[in-house]
Amino acid sequence: MEFAWTEEETAYREQVRTLVDDRYPGWRDKPVHHSFARSERNQVTELTHELRDRKLLTAHWPAEYGGADQSAWMHIILGEELWSVGEPRGPQYMSVNWIGPAIMANGTEEQKQEHLGRISDGEAFWCQGFSEPDSGSDLASLKCRAVRDGDEYIVNGQKIWTSHTQLAEWCFLLVRTDPDAEPHKGISVLLVSMDTPGIEVRSIANVAGESSFAEVFFTDVRVPAANRLGPENGGWDIVRAALTYERVGAPRWHRGSVVLDALVVWAKEHDRFDDPIVQSRLGEAKAAIEAARMLAYRVVDERAHKVPPSPNAYVARVSMVRAEKQVAELALWLMGEQGIDGESLAGHTFYPTLTAGVAGGTYEVQLNLVAGLVLQLPRR
Ligand SMILES: Cc1cc2nc3c(=O)[nH]c(=O)nc-3n(C[C@H](O)[C@H](O)[C@H](O)COP(=O)(O)OP(=O)(O)OC[C@H]3O[C@@H](n4cnc5c(N)ncnc54)[C@H](O)[C@@H]3O)c2cc1C
Repeated sequence: MEFAWTEEETAYREQVRTLVDDRYPGWRDKPVHHSFARSERNQVTELTHELRDRKLLTAHWPAEYGGADQSAWMHIILGEELWSVGEPRGPQYMSVNWIGPAIMANGTEEQKQEHLGRISDGEAFWCQGFSEPDSGSDLASLKCRAVRDGDEYIVNGQKIWTSHTQLAEWCFLLVRTDPDAEPHKGISVLLVSMDTPGIEVRSIANVAGESSFAEVFFTDVRVPAANRLGPENGGWDIVRAALTYERVGAPRWHRGSVVLDALVVWAKEHDRFDDPIVQSRLGEAKAAIEAARMLAYRVVDERAHKVPPSPNAYVARVSMVRAEKQVAELALWLMGEQGIDGESLAGHTFYPTLTAGVAGGTYEVQLNLVAGLVLQLPRR
């Protein structure tokens, strides 16, 4: 296999870097988790508007939807450059990564007109309403109910762990439209305005100390039937494809690689680099990060070639979560008590990894999927 970036891709990466360095001088030198984007709408949109103006935000989208008809690789380059400085787009990254493409693939003309322009303009904020108190890993068992009433659905139920609700204007909501069908055959997707009467949001703190997600309650929420994405009871296929994008959507390998470089600098400055154990652990972590990168690139390559989503995404995600944790544990071990401070490089690296193997589907469940779908092991 020969892998090399094209001139166009290299130029695109340089443009993103220049923009990041212009806007956030010094961020690259200190690869901490810059988290303002979770709550500050203006700070996010200032960045996304500038990305839009320089034609960098949705370069991989078709021109008719505000893109530049470039390859899926542009999106991964954008992600790598932004995740390595803490992903200042915050909630907006998932709109560009999978919500827009899901609407492109399954939406009506009206839905495309309503949503795609706002996403490619760097305006739209979305949340994803999938998990429920008793339906996380077993997502197909979800109960949030939508009953058709004329031109509307009436939604009742609860979601939990819904990220980005502070800023979200729209929710990509999974609902049960047929309670009598097999679990995954009775689910639909509704695009729900978060302003709709009957929606109540209650914030909850996560283990990393951030309050970025919430419980969302739906009581007799009326959603136009025209806001259903795809066929009634056809939501599962839409979500499976979207989750494939989500699994490699956050290029954590790149951030891990930047943190490793910073750890090498730290080890040299603190006279630890000559220790063969330090070198060996740095080398192991580097190998894990680069393996995760290659496995993720395999999935991006499928996307670039418009190959349907494959189980390779599960393998990539398993390796990504492991590699990221390896780097985080190494940072804590190397920096010792300095690393316990949440503001240190180790702290900024370690705390976010506590949730990395849960969000977007747990590590253990991904292992099950690898066992069944990749290794073809029998189910017990
Ligand atoms: C930071 C963060 C952000 C999130 N954002 C969102 C969001 O925006 N929208 C949203 O809908 N959800 C979101 N989630 C929720 C996330 O998708 C769920 O937490 C995840 O799917 C797991 O579901 P659960 O919490 O119900 O755990 P459970 O499914 O109850 O799992 C509990 C434990 O049991 C294990 N387990 C479960 N089933 C199996 C099995 N069959 N085999 C082996 N082990 C198993 C799991 O691996 C886990 O360790 C977020 C979570 C986090 C941490």
